[in-house]
Amino acid sequence: MRGYLVAGNWKMNGSNVANAELVDGIIAGAPQSDLVELLVCPPFPYLSAVAAKTSGSNVRLGAQTISEHESGAFTGETAGSMLRDVGCEYVIVGHSERRALMGETSQAVADKFMAAQKCGLTPILCVGETLEQRESGKTEAVIDEQLNAVLDSAGIDAFGRAVIAYEPVWAIGTGMTATPDQAQEVHRHIRALLEAKSESVAEGVKILYGGSVKGDNAGGLFSNPDIDGGLIGGASLKSEDFLAIAEAAVAIC
Ligand code: PEP
Repeated sequence: MRGYLVAGNWKMNGSNVANAELVDGIIAGAPQSDLVELLVCPPFPYLSAVAAKTSGSNVRLGAQTISEHESGAFTGETAGSMLRDVGCEYVIVGHSERRALMGETSQAVADKFMAAQKCGLTPILCVGETLEQRESGKTEAVIDEQLNAVLDSAGIDAFGRAVIAYEPVWAIGTGMTATPDQAQEVHRHIRALLEAKSESVAEGVKILYGGSVKGDNAGGLFSNPDIDGGLIGGASLKSEDFLAIAEAAVAIC
C-alpha cells in the first residue's frame, strides 16, 4: 500500500501571522494515520518559522522550488542544502507556473530534481498539459516529454525517491477539476511509462493529482487505483479546507 500524500502549495501567499494560524490549525487537526501524510510548502521567507511548528508534528515541510546549483554566485536562488538546513524534506519542481512564467525548461526541471535528491530532499515533479494541448490530443505526448527529460537525466531508480504530481494546467486555480476518470487515465499512463523501465519503482511511486481539488471532490479522485493524494493550491490556505481533503484520503484507507 503506497498510502496518500496531501501536499499544500501555499504559492506566494501568507504572512507570519496568517501562516501561524494556518499551520497550527493543520497540526491540531491532522489525521493520526500512518497511511496519510500531510505536507505544507510555504514561501521561502517563512520556511524556518513554519519548521519551528511542524518539527515534532506529523506534518512535513517542503519548498516550492530549488536552485539546480549547489552554492555560489546565483543571486536570489536557494540551494537544496539550505532547504535541508531549515527542515525541508520535500521540494516541488516543475510547477506549471514556473514552467510558464519563469521559463523553466524540462531540462532545467530535471536538473532541479537531481539537485534536490543530491541533498536528500524528495522532489515532487509536476507534469501536465494545457487546455489547448489536451484539446489537440497531445496530453500524453506532453507528459511523456516532461517525464522523459527527468528519466533520461536521473534514471528510473531516482523515481524510487520521488513523487510525481499530475497537474493539468487548465485545472489549476480555475475550479475546473479533471474528472476522476480523466485524472486516472493520465495517472495510469504515467505509471505505465515507469513500469516499462521498472515494475517495482512504478508500483512504489506516489502520483498526486493537482488542480482545483477540494474537500467535496477529493474522495472521487483519490479512490482511483493510481491516484495517491493531491497537490493542493487554493484549498491549502484554510486549515478546514485542507483537512477536509486529508479526511477524504483517510476515509479511503
Ligand atoms: C497548484 O497550484 O498546484 C494547484 C493545484 O492549485 P489549485 O488547487 O488552486 O488548483
